[in-house]
Amino acid sequence: MPTYNFSAGPAVMPKPVIDQIQAELPSFQDSGMSIMEISHRSQLFEQVINDAEQDLRDLMQIPNNYRVLFFQGGGTLQFTAAPLNLATAHHHIGLLDSGHWASRAADEARRVATQVDILATGTDNHFTALPQLQGPVDQNLDYVHLTTNNTIEGTMYTKLPDTGHVPLVADMSSNFLGQPYNVTDFGMIFAGAQKNLGPAGLTIVIVRDDLIGHAKNLPSMLDYQLFAEKQSMFNTPPVFAIYAAGLVLKWLKAQGGLAAMAQRNQEKAARLYDFLDQSQLFNNPVIPSDRSTMNVPFMTGDPALDAQFIAGATDQGLLNLKGHRLVGGMRASLYNAMPLAGVDALVDYLATFEATHA
Ligand code: PMP
Repeated sequence: MPTYNFSAGPAVMPKPVIDQIQAELPSFQDSGMSIMEISHRSQLFEQVINDAEQDLRDLMQIPNNYRVLFFQGGGTLQFTAAPLNLATAHHHIGLLDSGHWASRAADEARRVATQVDILATGTDNHFTALPQLQGPVDQNLDYVHLTTNNTIEGTMYTKLPDTGHVPLVADMSSNFLGQPYNVTDFGMIFAGAQKNLGPAGLTIVIVRDDLIGHAKNLPSMLDYQLFAEKQSMFNTPPVFAIYAAGLVLKWLKAQGGLAAMAQRNQEKAARLYDFLDQSQLFNNPVIPSDRSTMNVPFMTGDPALDAQFIAGATDQGLLNLKGHRLVGGMRASLYNAMPLAGVDALVDYLATFEATHA
């Protein structure tokens, strides 16, 4: 029986990539050493990290005036690093409160003495619609923080807010590389790898170079300027995670790049939403225009029935469908590496369950 992993993260990776990792794990490029055993200063690894950066630049069409940095510490560390590095003129940022991770970002920014204005919030509709700017933003803000995809609530910004000259800083953790965005629309983009890129332990930061280098005496491990100067090798980088992410980037190129991924992701998500919208039993609460292609929450409204559904799904090889504890019910994450066949298997099981439990 095939299994399909709908986890929100760490999440499914492309099968050919897992196979390649397995095949070359004992001896990387005939060196007689595993990728996990080689120095990050070796020529072998230099090639790995340089290729990963170049492939990412190609896929996202990242202009030369943006630095690509490889960090550890997850998306969460960037909630601290972004204000420390970029909120240097006014110590004052704006934020669109689109859900749990946006509000975590606000908390962490405040911890490093940054004033955070909530420019709009989705609390009134329980985050079933995206908060939108209600007019021009204060041009003295250092930046506006935006969570492009809300992993828990299942919403996604495709049209970006107009912040005038104030740079947008995007937490793209859960839809990174799932569709094209124009990098020049952002001052900075960051994303933890463990959803759409590779194993946990790696975080990508893409930042416009005129925005960095203004902070004084930052802890070294949080200093974008230092990481840029040292090409992400100030200390030992997460060698294995960068290697695995590099393989995923090559896989993405072979799949036709981000426009092709967007098309496939839309098709996958549409199959699930179409089923949910006609269902008498299951429901997705998000308004159609704001729905995520990556994370789809759904529920019956009866926690006991949800639990029965999840147990039955697990028996069918449909794994990790339990919803986030804040929302309950179920959540299917449909990242790049989830094949259409996985979504079809889920929809088949949803239909069977409904027929026998309605
Ligand atoms: N931002 C978003 C949108 C997320 O979904 C997550 C993780 N679920 C985070 C930030 C935090 O990421 P990490 O666990 O890598 O710190």
